[in-house]
Amino acid sequence: MVIFLVCVLTMAIAGILRVAGVNTPKVWRIILFVPSLIGAPLLIIALLRTVANLRNVQKARAAGCRKCPNCMYSLVGSDPNGCCPECGQAYTQDALVAYWKVEVGARSLGSADK
Ligand SMILES: [Zn+2]
Repeated sequence: MVIFLVCVLTMAIAGILRVAGVNTPKVWRIILFVPSLIGAPLLIIALLRTVANLRNVQKARAAGCRKCPNCMYSLVGSDPNGCCPECGQAYTQDALVAYWKVEVGARSLGSADK
């Protein structure tokens, strides 16, 4: 996380300096450019993970919180409490609701329960 923030910060500084037309010494341009090489892929990965997480939350909402938080296996029709048939993680109905309540948000959970 710290590496990501440092990379994004240096990318922002490099971008601002470039847009502002500040003539920085070559060594500073290299110092600011190298973290950008790391930061740009990290930024893309973070965006892709965010999109994937939002999709998982939507799937869990559609399944009324009956998704395994570990592997996203559908627990619809499974026992209220037990182990995930896919990954073996133990679950309870209360734990699933609590998990997806945090992920989904209490406001949208109401519509998922119906
Ligand atoms: Zn699972």
